[in-house]
Amino acid sequence: MIQLKTIEELRLMKQSARLVSKTLGMLAKEIKPGITTAYLDKLAYDFIKDHGAEPAFLGYGGFPYSLCISPNEQVVHGFPNNDILKEGDILSVDCGVILNGFVGDHAYTFEIGEVKPETKKLLKVAKESLYKGIEQCIRGKRIGDISHAIQSYCEKEGYGVVRELVGHGLGRQMHEDPQVPNYGRQGSGKVIKDGLAIAIEPMINMGTEKVKFHNDGWTVTTLDNQPSAHFEHDVAVINGKPVLLSTYQYIYEALGIESDEEKRFQMDF
Ligand code: MG
Ligand code: MG
Repeated sequence: MIQLKTIEELRLMKQSARLVSKTLGMLAKEIKPGITTAYLDKLAYDFIKDHGAEPAFLGYGGFPYSLCISPNEQVVHGFPNNDILKEGDILSVDCGVILNGFVGDHAYTFEIGEVKPETKKLLKVAKESLYKGIEQCIRGKRIGDISHAIQSYCEKEGYGVVRELVGHGLGRQMHEDPQVPNYGRQGSGKVIKDGLAIAIEPMINMGTEKVKFHNDGWTVTTLDNQPSAHFEHDVAVINGKPVLLSTYQYIYEALGIESDEEKRFQMDF
């Protein structure tokens, strides 16, 4: 059952989402060739705790870290480790917090130094597809409209849209109803209403959509070992329209990127 949120609840959810955004912004300053992902995990744990919150992933279903860190061909749910990041890698960082009883859950794929043009394009299209999905979060439309917008945008570029892992409702729990697949038919699925809060998270592969689940119980990689990108925002529907709870602005400030991509989805409430 979908639990629609009140404005007061959405205000609290925005605080949770923004703490994840700040954590990713803090990490953005550190992500470069030569560092390990275990180091990033430690930084995130300390930062989240220092802000009076709990890392939502740590212990969730037995997950042993604060961040899911997935380089290159890893799609999602990778373990931080002592491997050293190299120039040309990409790194998906997914982070969750629990603050005031509500979960924030969002992700960004970073470039490590200079990456190949085709990899840059994968990241660009994957992120654009996230906004294509967000655009569809309009009262009266359906979840399938979000799914279809993401799928059609990415497949037109020849990319593989992961089927086995999906976005989700968000609130006091990290995974609530409804599921928000990144593929589907227009006009299908649950109707979008005011108070809906969801995490939309395209996982987009350079090659095949097929993935492999590893026997650590968590890590997911592309079947063809080509790179994969993951972008995730927390979105609420207020007054019939999509409003971003999370923001990439802290990342962009850290990286010196100018962007107004979020502007049309921002609203004070
Ligand atoms: Mg996530
Ligand atoms: Mg999520």
